[in-house]
Amino acid sequence: MKVPLLDLNAQNLPLEKELTAAFTSVLRSGMFIQGPEVAAFEKEIATMVGATHAIGVSSGTDALVLALMALGIGPGDEVLVPTFTFFATAGCVARTGATPVFVDACPICFNIDTAKAARKITPKTKAIIPVHLFGQSADMDGVMALARTHGLRVIEDGAQSIGARYKNQASGTIGDFGTFSFFPSKNLGGFGDGGMLITQNDALADQARLLRTHGSRPKYFHLEVGGNFRLDPLQAALLRVKLPHYARYTAARQANADAYTSELSRLPGVVIGDPAHCKCLTAQENSLGSSSHPVKIILPVAYAHNEHIWNQYTLRLPEAGQRDALKNHLQARDIGCEIYYPRTMDEQVCFQYTPEASRSDCDVAHRLAAECISLPIYPELPPEHRQEVVAAVASFLS
Ligand SMILES: *Cc1c(COP(=O)(O)O)cnc(C)c1O
Repeated sequence: MKVPLLDLNAQNLPLEKELTAAFTSVLRSGMFIQGPEVAAFEKEIATMVGATHAIGVSSGTDALVLALMALGIGPGDEVLVPTFTFFATAGCVARTGATPVFVDACPICFNIDTAKAARKITPKTKAIIPVHLFGQSADMDGVMALARTHGLRVIEDGAQSIGARYKNQASGTIGDFGTFSFFPSKNLGGFGDGGMLITQNDALADQARLLRTHGSRPKYFHLEVGGNFRLDPLQAALLRVKLPHYARYTAARQANADAYTSELSRLPGVVIGDPAHCKCLTAQENSLGSSSHPVKIILPVAYAHNEHIWNQYTLRLPEAGQRDALKNHLQARDIGCEIYYPRTMDEQVCFQYTPEASRSDCDVAHRLAAECISLPIYPELPPEHRQEVVAAVASFLS
């Protein structure tokens, strides 16, 4: 049985009539830049997450660039980013002329290690970008404490976490800015590129809106050098069709994650990550395994204070070479899987120009890049597909 990693049609085609109607409505409106669809979608996202301002933008990447520009970050500045993330988090910092400083990961939630982040702060550090990787919030108390102590700005990269919660606060609403992505494989997947920037701060929202359209106010009179970072009305109209279903998509992902955890945790050598040992990989493995049952696979876990939205369900295989062996095993059975992410940012060729100190001390992340693999978790995943995945993992372990 072929088991795809993702099946966008399973989510979109049931809405085909409404999507087509939304397309037709934008077509007939003749309005293809800004306008009421974008404004309405911004308002709906703001309401959903409890943000004061939501600003539609061209992608999750551009949301990050716009946030950095609105905060005035540029050459001479340093910005702390997790080294275990999608490229955009770090690439956007470099594009402003600032230096990305790479920080190691937590082996339980895979997010930025705030204790290690503290050790990389210098007088040049201006901001920190926690990423809520795979749909689970980073340690925002830790991040905000660093920000307060050292006067840092905070941009939450919520590309994978729209609707997730940290201690009952929505992802993206805690820092100065939060960013979302509507890339098709994200939890609220669009029909091409799109994104959203959110903030609770009126002045920052105004600055971001100005920079979103070439810094012009009024048109053709430019106060600042901005860019074209706008969300298309067509994208907004189509996403508005999907938004009322979003809570159901999230619930289905959470149910899939629960089912994987309950089925996989019965297999020999499979254990659930232990939040009590979130700072040290070795201590974690020692606490989970025993001499008769060495740990083969560590399942992902949500901290009790987080609502996880499971953009990915990511296993760790701590024994050398076993992750790649499982990948081959799944691929040979036509089961979709993906390595998020095979190379950390500190090791990317394009970042070798940064000072050694900005790339040091990322050992946990290096291991994660070698040990992690993500399984199909999309909301419409048929139960028989999930069972096929579990059976394939079982046969790998036997
Ligand atoms: C997808 C993603 C982005 C970029 O979003 P795009 O809409 O693809 O530009 C940024 N950060 C993270 C963590 C992502 O997963």
